[in-house]
Amino acid sequence: MKVYLETFGCQMNRLDSELVASVLVQAGHEMVRDGRGADVVLYNTCSVREHAEEKVHSRLGEQMHRGGRGRRMIVGVLGCMAQRLGDDLRKRYACVDIVCGPGRLHELGDLIAEAGAGQGRVALDPRRGERKSGADIESLDSARDADLVPSASQAYVRVMRGCDKFCSYCIVPFVRGPETSRRPEDVAAEVRRLVDTGRSEITLLGQTVNSYNFSDGGRTVRFGDLLGMLSPIGGLRRLRFVTSHPVGFDDDILQAMRDLPNVCEYIHCPPQSGSDRVLGAMNRGYTRSEYDDFIARARAIVPSVVLAGDFIVGFPGETEEDHSASAELIRRSGFKNSFIFKYSPRDGTTAARRLADDVPLDVKKRRNNELLAVQAEVSLAHHRAMIGRTVEVLVEGPSPRANRQASPATKDKTQLIGRSRWDHIVVFDGPDSLAGTYADVSVYDATSLTLFGRRAR
Ligand code: SF4
Repeated sequence: MKVYLETFGCQMNRLDSELVASVLVQAGHEMVRDGRGADVVLYNTCSVREHAEEKVHSRLGEQMHRGGRGRRMIVGVLGCMAQRLGDDLRKRYACVDIVCGPGRLHELGDLIAEAGAGQGRVALDPRRGERKSGADIESLDSARDADLVPSASQAYVRVMRGCDKFCSYCIVPFVRGPETSRRPEDVAAEVRRLVDTGRSEITLLGQTVNSYNFSDGGRTVRFGDLLGMLSPIGGLRRLRFVTSHPVGFDDDILQAMRDLPNVCEYIHCPPQSGSDRVLGAMNRGYTRSEYDDFIARARAIVPSVVLAGDFIVGFPGETEEDHSASAELIRRSGFKNSFIFKYSPRDGTTAARRLADDVPLDVKKRRNNELLAVQAEVSLAHHRAMIGRTVEVLVEGPSPRANRQASPATKDKTQLIGRSRWDHIVVFDGPDSLAGTYADVSVYDATSLTLFGRRAR
């Protein structure tokens, strides 16, 4: 069948979609880029923000309209929203045949076959208390076909699923289930396969990736150990990881970053707020000074480390003083960049149940803009400090916004975009043939988002 798959949300979802596509192609289906000619339309959904769910409702509304007029397609809703809303989706949208939770994606081939025979089905993950079998969790990742990975030079590899942190605003622990770490040997085998087929940059993924902890028969492998196991894989030039949580980011991980040459010195570790009161209400598990200590430890052990954060503005009860504390934290921490989100309550979370969403939208918008402005200042200072340095970049290809010549001296070349090991976006001129390779680039200019350079001779 021709299958169209649209993905919403985070990198974890994009990886799930890649793995789903891999499994479906191996089963004989064809992935297509246009939903109109497809036999099967799948939406891999996100529940973290209201806006992401609204988009899926809008797509399903369109499908209802289309279903009434034309050829019948199989429609499936996958991922976090499927897990959160379950059979309600089929009750609300008669066009929906398949509802599949994030831990059941390996069954999608069967679900499509059954739906083709008129037997649509809801397949949800067990409740948190009913532990998933390791085989179920492993099967989707292990079935991956390295030849179907979209990038020839980089790839994502999941090391764990789920989350046990229970931040009060977050739906993830409920829809993605408890933290479950993959066997280190399975992770290593997947990384080796990807490297053997040309991917020299691997990013390890987990909701709280530094919580990775695999125990089996008296053996325990923690995240720092896993980095140590993967780093020696021949041909692995860069090893990255996202997303981190300050709790449990122990010195052994920082020491691995310092000592293992291919582990990139970049940590995306969202503080979410700079106010102890708000951090407590968010159930983040640390105070402002503990976060400061984490940053100080990271910089002491890995002096070249580059840090990035995320913040939520307008959390219930957030005062101007709390908001200023977040701005101060951005300044103190010197983040390369931060994503700033306006709080919106998510059904099923503790915050939605217990805390009034009492910060007006116009105040949230203002605070959002204020934090963005502070972050832009800090980002600009960070990027300007790179001017004059030569950085190695992995070239991704032509810049999507090729509207500024990277170097006046090389006007006839394509404007390329690449990433440094610290996750800087670097724009420079060069031949298209550099895509997927490493190049040394001398930085001569910077904005808050981008470094501009020319190829070093
Ligand atoms: S650490 Fe908190 S915000 Fe992140 S996935 Fe877990 S519960 Fe959600």
